[in-house]
Amino acid sequence: MEEKLEIWSSNLGYPRIGEKRELKKALEGYWQDKVTDEELKQTATSLQERIWETQKQAGIDFIPVGDFSLYDHMLDISINFGFIPKRFRQQTIKKELELYFTMARGAKNVPPLEMTKWFDTNYHYLVPEIDTPPKLLGNPILTLIKKAIALNIQPKPVLVGPYTFLTLSKVPEGKDKFWVLPKLLEVYKEVLKQWAMAGAKWVQIDEPALVLEMSGEEIKVVKDIYHNLSSPDINIMLQTYFEGVDFYPEIAKLPVQGIGLDFVRSHNNLENIKKYGFPKEKVLGLGIVNGRNVWRTNLTHAFALAKEIIDIAHPKAVFVQPSCSLLHLPISIELETKLSSEVKQILAFAKERLQEVAILTQALRKGELPAGSFAGSPEVHPLKEVKEKIAQLKSEDFERAEPYEKRFLKQQKVLNLPLFPTTTIGSFPQTKDVRQKRARFKRGEIDQQEYSQFLREKMAFCIGIQEGLGLDVLVHGEFERSDMVEYFAQKMTGFLVTQNGWVQSYGSRCVRPPIIYADVSRPKPMTINEICYAQSLTPKPVKGMLTGPVTILNWSYVREDIPRKEVAFQIALALRDEVLDLEKAGIKIIQIDEPAFREGLPLKKEKRKSYLDWAVKAFRLSNAPVKPQTQIHTHMCYAEFKDIIEAIDAMDADVISIECSRSKGDVISIFETYHYKKGIGLGTYDIHSPRIPKKEEILATLKRCLKVLAPQQLWVNPDCGLKTRQWEEIIPSLRNMVEVARELRDSL
Ligand code: GLN
Ligand code: ZN
Repeated sequence: MEEKLEIWSSNLGYPRIGEKRELKKALEGYWQDKVTDEELKQTATSLQERIWETQKQAGIDFIPVGDFSLYDHMLDISINFGFIPKRFRQQTIKKELELYFTMARGAKNVPPLEMTKWFDTNYHYLVPEIDTPPKLLGNPILTLIKKAIALNIQPKPVLVGPYTFLTLSKVPEGKDKFWVLPKLLEVYKEVLKQWAMAGAKWVQIDEPALVLEMSGEEIKVVKDIYHNLSSPDINIMLQTYFEGVDFYPEIAKLPVQGIGLDFVRSHNNLENIKKYGFPKEKVLGLGIVNGRNVWRTNLTHAFALAKEIIDIAHPKAVFVQPSCSLLHLPISIELETKLSSEVKQILAFAKERLQEVAILTQALRKGELPAGSFAGSPEVHPLKEVKEKIAQLKSEDFERAEPYEKRFLKQQKVLNLPLFPTTTIGSFPQTKDVRQKRARFKRGEIDQQEYSQFLREKMAFCIGIQEGLGLDVLVHGEFERSDMVEYFAQKMTGFLVTQNGWVQSYGSRCVRPPIIYADVSRPKPMTINEICYAQSLTPKPVKGMLTGPVTILNWSYVREDIPRKEVAFQIALALRDEVLDLEKAGIKIIQIDEPAFREGLPLKKEKRKSYLDWAVKAFRLSNAPVKPQTQIHTHMCYAEFKDIIEAIDAMDADVISIECSRSKGDVISIFETYHYKKGIGLGTYDIHSPRIPKKEEILATLKRCLKVLAPQQLWVNPDCGLKTRQWEEIIPSLRNMVEVARELRDSL
């Protein structure tokens, strides 16, 4: 008789920040010297233990250990494996955690590690810099393993694998990406040995980089790595996620004991198993509930799919698990007291995912699901008008009536702007008084009238400052907005906003993404009051300021019953109403920000064209019917533009502003080869730093721009919004910027 298949429940990672954002508060207190080293560590320890307990209670057999981090898991590896770049090695360190946080956040004259997006998520990791060979400096996970075992928890230590770690790292110029690999493998082996000795049976080695495009050379490196790491002491679960693996046959043959695959995001993984089979001596990590979105799992479907996969794969055993770490989800739906029970029914956050894993594990063991398991999908009430509008879209809906050259002349007539027009990106300081007033208004402690009056005073001040500085195109300052996406989500139908749905973006910074669960529409104007008030104070043009459809989409959890493209079009139509109302109210320039345009780019190359196609269309749909005289702006923060410059051009905005300083001006060089004709402002100074830019620096940037762009197209603006800066920094910085623009004008 066939041996009974062993089925275990497992998890890959859990949110770290705490139900009440305890970690955030402790970290920020620590940075302000209000929390001691000991207190911070204590908070981390108790959070860690609670996270284990939650998973144990939920019925998870293999609980990740080492997924927790004080700031970032890539930084932890950098520190523990001795990748401490020279500029930090030279620092005198007084406190234990000082080096760690200096690498994370920088210190006077010491820039931190660079930060960038973790694959296509909204989590940001600190990019390791490998300027020295590795050295095992610490193994904190070892202590955690022992502690977990003492607490009767089956620990599954987690570590980013050598291939992914090096792929995501920076090496000095001229060095090979894998130059430290042989030594690094020694460190990994030592660590695994210590973990095994402490009693860990399985280790989860995360290799999400295996889902990216890989060369034959790289797959050889991966083979070398795992032939080297493999040891009889400990079982390796080679964990991939976020997409399917292209080199499946090679990966399946690696000498590891388990292969973890994401069956939620990728159909390819199942196709590959059908085609090539699954090694019968290996354990299958079955990623079956979604770690990237918030919809409750349809258990009937998931159960059927899991059975199908297991039947085809015939693995040695199965780990039933989420598709990826639950780090990318809010903690629990239980923390939401204001959502209706109807809505809560269809949602699952991290804690609820654990329950789903446990139910599916039991069901697969027994061969059937318990009666009454959730088999629904979100019950949405369709808005007939929205559906109809989308169905009736014609190509004209995506086209401005006249080409850019003609629009430019007409806009010039209306706006009469000088050469090198000066402007800012939108927000001005969200000072404490602004945040406090908003909080009081939300709690009902002050009424609408008092709040509106406060906002008007802020806008008046802001307009006054901009006029005083002599800027050409003004903004209202965005004082009424908590966040550029949430603000609009609260004003449109189809969105849910949570009270406690915080997700870590980086370090102590969390975001609360809205949830798009139904058809989107705009019942009432969203920005007209503020923009028109600001415009009434000045003869200079004030920009209408909106967040674009693609950014709203990419920074939300999105329903899955209709294509993303369609949701993007729905948002675009809602924004279009706002754009037309702004125009009708006499606003001559409207900026539609798309900082997250690049972020939605799929990990797999073959999916990119289609994304760019509809993303460009969604942006165009949001503003195409305005008059040629109305000037449409957009703004993007730093992103690699080279591969999307054609799409950016196709968005057909009259003016675009792009952050420039984080790439040290690299974006400028794109225009050496790409002939861009429309208006463009490449950030003239870095707004992430409190530093006041010197006039010479601003001038140098502008001169670089003028080498590749015509004077008629060049705008002058800071990199990004000024929301996080102080007035004391902004005023002298903008004064320098305006003076430089004037001098440059006069010199021509
Ligand atoms: N208009 C927004 C602001 O100034 C743009 C923010 C952004 O680029 N992320 O804050
Ligand atoms: Zn920006």
